[in-house]
This record gives sequence, structure tokens and C-alpha cells, in this order.
Amino acid sequence: MNLAILGATGSIGSSTLDVVSRHPDRYRVFALTANGKAEPLLELCRAHRPAYAVLSGAPRDAKLAARFAECGTELLFGAAALEEVVADARCDVVMAAIVGAAGLASTFAAARTGKRVLLANKEALVMAGPLLTRAAREAGARLLPVDSEHNAVFQCLSDIKAVRRILLTASGGPFRAAPIESLDAVTPAQACAHPNWVMGRKISVDSATMMNKGLEVIEARWLFDVPPSSIEVVIHPQSIVHSLVEYVDGSLIAQLSNPDMRVPIAHALGFPERIASGATPLDLTTMKSLSFEKPDERRFPCLRLAYAALEKGGTAPALLNAANEVAVAAFLEGRLPFTGIARVIADTLEAVPSGAANSLDTVVSADEQARRHAACGVMARAA
Ligand code: NAD
Ligand code: MG
Repeated sequence: MNLAILGATGSIGSSTLDVVSRHPDRYRVFALTANGKAEPLLELCRAHRPAYAVLSGAPRDAKLAARFAECGTELLFGAAALEEVVADARCDVVMAAIVGAAGLASTFAAARTGKRVLLANKEALVMAGPLLTRAAREAGARLLPVDSEHNAVFQCLSDIKAVRRILLTASGGPFRAAPIESLDAVTPAQACAHPNWVMGRKISVDSATMMNKGLEVIEARWLFDVPPSSIEVVIHPQSIVHSLVEYVDGSLIAQLSNPDMRVPIAHALGFPERIASGATPLDLTTMKSLSFEKPDERRFPCLRLAYAALEKGGTAPALLNAANEVAVAAFLEGRLPFTGIARVIADTLEAVPSGAANSLDTVVSADEQARRHAACGVMARAA
């Protein structure tokens, strides 16, 4: 199978390449993409020799392209080339692992062209859930969840009609037990120091605010086509149980593993077969306890904001996502206090009207409008 990895230089991208390298007989790396920096992408091309590489967010550069050509790779520039490589008839599988709204168009292109889509880019589904799932259905594309919780739910699902609840687990992030008054002063380094997972910076901050779980509730709503009222979040600090499905008969089915993204990645890559991931197997006898608790709404206001946006529907989740991206970037750059993230999102959702999300263009313009509003909100609340 020919595989394109969008966001190859990121955390999910490198875990995917690790799994793929264990199965050279099954997968051929067809395309690798990255944003901005060429050297890490070139290094990956030397190791995996894809037919194409795409560098977005950088000017066209013939000398650079010649260096890629030395490893048999044609280097393309710009965001439009992302859509070209995934739509290529020779490409069978797309790992959608670009972070944020920047991944929307290419994830959509993969769905629209009927590819097997391994979905890490949850923001695409948050922004345009009904449009993306419909495009996939119409084109015969399969959307396979890579997000560990959704992959766990997918593994636990048998009879969707008999599901009573989907329980998404959350670690609670680095500030689960910190005094709430101390959250105003936390630094980006503290917010990115996740207790159980090593991830990109944006999703690490999302985990600290629990917006990540909010986005995942929306993601689950569209991936599994279940009402929001049947999706619940439970804090599980050990990150061993990756999510659970409860059935009408009272059975609760869970998926467990060590916290290693190679497990869900290997599951999605191999599906319906099981393939080796490289992850260390779980040793139940060394585990002291598995605990579960309710999330505290005062500590994690972003979770409530996400449920509210989902309830509102239309472009509201796209507004939520855009405001979150702007606020998180500002926090990471030291321009907004940690607690300002939820405030900027709440202000944006209040001020920018949502409407029907009939087309990708409507979603993209809602995203732009929310970004403009959130940027003003950041300035007003500057750290
Ligand atoms: P990351 O920051 O480590 O990597 C992001 C990748 O996207 C990089 O290759 C980067 O070059 C590329 N990229 C960034 N901006 C881009 C742009 N404007 N245009 C094109 N490419 C761009 O992020 P990550 O942690 O690997 O997360 C990727 C996605 O997977 C996110 O949507 C995240 O929510 C999801 N996810 C990640 C994890 C994890 O463990 N890291 C778990 C579940 C879901
Ligand atoms: Mg997750």
C-alpha cells in the first residue's frame, strides 16, 4: 500500500514512520509533508525515499528541490500540493496528521478522493464533521480513528444501536491537582509537560485546558454518529484505559495499553488485521491502581464550551476551534495567560454569530472571522 503522511515531521508523523518501518513488505512511503523547515523533511526523505515531499509555508527553492531529487523525491511547494499528492491515484492511504485547521483541506481531499484516511487531525472533524463524513461516505473513503480514545472506542464497538454511553477517558493533564488560583501563572513549559504522553505543543496545551477532550467529544459525535448526550468524559490519570463503550445490557468494554500512540496508529494502519506496533506490552501485575474521577468544570471551563458549541451546531464548533488555536498560540508565545485561553474562546463564541455549515467555504470563513475576533481578544487580555 502506498502511504502519504501529512505532517510527517510531527509527533504522530514520526510514530507512524516508526510503525511503517517495521513492515516494509506492507507499506511504501509515497509522500511526506511538513511545514516551514526543510531539513527535518529532507532527513526523512533520505531514510524513506518517497516519490513526493511537500513543503508548505516556504518559498519555492530550486536548489533545495535538487537536494531532495538526490534521494529520488520530487519536492513540491505550497498548501495546494498537499491536496495534489493525496488525490494522486497511486496513493492508497493517507495519515492526516497536520495539526489544526491547516489540515482541513488536505484531510477533506483525502476523504473526497476515496482514500483510506487515518485521522489524527481531529480539528478537521470538529470544524466540518457532517461535511467530512458525508464526503467520505459518498466517495467510499474509510475514516479510521488514530486519536487513542476514538481508536479505543472503535475497537470496543460491536452493535452501535445498543450503545448506551461512550466514555472518553482523559488524563486531566499536568494541572489536574494544582490549586486553581495557581493556573493564572503557569508557563508554556509547564503546560507542555504532559504526565503520560509526549505530543506536539498545541495538543499538549489543549490537554492541559482539557479543550482536547472537548474537541474529542465533537470528534466522537461525528465519527460514531451518536448524540452528544451519550458521550461522557471521565478523568483517568494513568492513561491506561483509552476509552470505554457501555451497552444497554450493562456491559462496559474498554481498550487498554501503555500510553504509546504507535498502538492506535498500528491498529488503523493494519485494520482489519493486527500488526506489530513496537509498543511495550502492558504488565498488569506492576500496576498499582486504575482510578477514575469526574472532571471539575471550574478547573476545565473549555470542556463546557466545547459541549455548548456542539449543541449549537452549524459553524459554532469551527468558531470554537479557531478561537482556541489563536488563544493557544498566544499562550505559547507568552502573550496570554493560561486562564485567558478559555476567556478568549468564550468571548468569541458570544460575539461571533454562528450559522449553517453548508459548505467548506462557509466553514473556512467562520474560521477566519473567529480568528480575527480572538486576536483582538488576545490583545485585550494580554499577559
Ligand atoms: P506536531 O506539532 O508534532 O506536528 C504537526 C505536523 O503538522 C508537523 O509535521 C508540521 O510540520 C505540520 N504542520 C503544522 N502546521 C502546518 C501547516 N500550516 N501546513 C501544513 N503542515 C503543517 O503535532 P502532533 O502532536 O503530531 O499532532 C498532529 C495532529 O494529531 C493534531 O491534530 C493532534 O490533535 C492529533 N493527535 C496527536 C496526538 C499525539 O500524541 N501527538 C494524539 C492524538 C491526536
Ligand atoms: Mg486523544
